Amino acid sequence: MRFLIHLAAESEAGQRLQEIASLERNEPRLENIGLSLREAKQLLAAIQTKIVEQQVADYLETLRPCPRCGRIRGLNGSHEVTFQTLFGNLELRSPRWNHCGCQPNPAKTFSPLSELLKEHVSPERLYLETKWASLISFELAAHLLKDAGSGVAHNGSGTRMSIHFESIPFASWRSFLGDIRETA
Ligand SMILES: [Zn+2]
Repeated sequence: MRFLIHLAAESEAGQRLQEIASLERNEPRLENIGLSLREAKQLLAAIQTKIVEQQVADYLETLRPCPRCGRIRGLNGSHEVTFQTLFGNLELRSPRWNHCGCQPNPAKTFSPLSELLKEHVSPERLYLETKWASLISFELAAHLLKDAGSGVAHNGSGTRMSIHFESIPFASWRSFLGDIRETA
């Protein structure tokens, strides 16, 4: 049997269907029943990517015409930005547009996406990272991060631990939860 998983996006323009994944379930064995942890993570990451890409595309399309005269604002290059979410880091293309000439502007160009993504980390991920950082010792976090192959991020005002949940192996999760119970 094959399961096809699609994402249906509905808007005033109609419905848009995108394939997310195809799961094969040919042999009726216990380990083939339902989703595996790996498949669940891949599905979440794929759904997150498609949803964010669509939201960003809609946001940019809405803003493209000049609000004063309606002319489409010209493209003046683009760059890539990374948006960190609980379900993966997304690479997004951030365009730079020319300001319309119908009214004077102090700047010649602007990046509309940077107005939406004021932070490059989703609020929920930032909240959980902060919460985790308050629950576990720096040494334990560093050990887990080393196991997970992640790094520790520093910012100008101090040290901020960057925990990448999606890459932490299951054995490390069990170890982490055991340590939390012992220290509670
Ligand atoms: Zn204009």
